[in-house]
Amino acid sequence: MYDVMIIGGGVAGMSASIYSASRGLETIIFESGALGGVIGRVSTVSHYAGIISGETGASFVNRIVRQTEELGVKLRRETVSGVSLDGPVKKVITSAGVYEGKTVIIASGLIPRKLGVPGEEKFTGNGVYYDTGEYAGGGNNIFVVGGSDGAVKEALFLSQSSKHVEIIHWEEKLGSIREFTDKVADRGNISVRLNARLLGIKGTDRIDAIVFRDERDGRTEEIPATDARVFIFAGSIPDTSLYKPLVLKDGYIVTDESMYSGIPGVFAAGDIRLKKIRQIATAVSDGAVASISAKAYIDSMFKKGIN
Ligand SMILES: Cc1cc2nc3c(=O)[nH]c(=O)nc-3n(C[C@H](O)[C@H](O)[C@H](O)COP(=O)(O)OP(=O)(O)OC[C@H]3O[C@@H](n4cnc5c(N)ncnc54)[C@H](O)[C@@H]3O)c2cc1C
Repeated sequence: MYDVMIIGGGVAGMSASIYSASRGLETIIFESGALGGVIGRVSTVSHYAGIISGETGASFVNRIVRQTEELGVKLRRETVSGVSLDGPVKKVITSAGVYEGKTVIIASGLIPRKLGVPGEEKFTGNGVYYDTGEYAGGGNNIFVVGGSDGAVKEALFLSQSSKHVEIIHWEEKLGSIREFTDKVADRGNISVRLNARLLGIKGTDRIDAIVFRDERDGRTEEIPATDARVFIFAGSIPDTSLYKPLVLKDGYIVTDESMYSGIPGVFAAGDIRLKKIRQIATAVSDGAVASISAKAYIDSMFKKGIN
């Protein structure tokens, strides 16, 4: 019987585990992929207090993982396929078995939004990517689709090891912060194609052309792009199909400010939660609050008096 069962080993889940393990609670994290979640696959971590110069997603996450290990948090590389959240004993189901605990913190993050254009699925992993985590450099035809902070930051990173990077964005200006747009303007090998919507990716074994539409006049254009790499940053969406009994809005889990979901002993933290700002700072904060709330719930429900 665990005290705290955390679904998702991103920064929200790991922050929650640090707060619960340090309060003497038996804590387990379930993570289907790599620990660290989305930020672990990002080229550079920006704007979070305390990061080191040139901090990569991997180096940032490694320090947090070490911190959780030193506290004795149990980490299971298992995908959660079901939950039972009612009653005092919660269940988390994975392919390895059924785990029981007093509380559950859902910190399962978001998944990348797909564009659904022809060729996207065919080339996923072989020319089409949703992060730069596995990118080892090289390639002359690099396209970044999107204009958010994440998209523009990754375009800057990709431009360091490629001849040329083209940002394709469907709006009339980039949506990223000034720091990043200024850097794009200064970087000689990045071009920005605005008002352009990606319509398709063509090729047989490898990508050899990109099709897009000019949003101003509706004209479509096919540009040759031999062996191109297309990095798509078209936003993220929640997958809360496992958590139907919870109150959801637009697919996000609704909580109060103690991260309480409305089902006793069940909390949510990080990007999966309905909120306005999704950053490391808010994910880490949610995780901390969720665990402190879980501890208060356990103390009142089970009268264990853990310090
Ligand atoms: C390109 C990009 C760049 C960014 N750069 C910055 C930045 O520089 N600074 C900043 O502050 N923020 C940045 N952000 C935002 C920040 O990364 C996120 O807000 C934060 O990492 C979210 O953390 P999380 O733990 O809530 O979710 P996630 O990191 O998504 O973690 C959730 C984890 O849950 C796991 N999971 C999901 N379902 C299951 C299941 N059923 N069973 C087991 N495990 C499961 C997933 O595999 C995942 O690892 C960036 C985001 C993007 C997309």
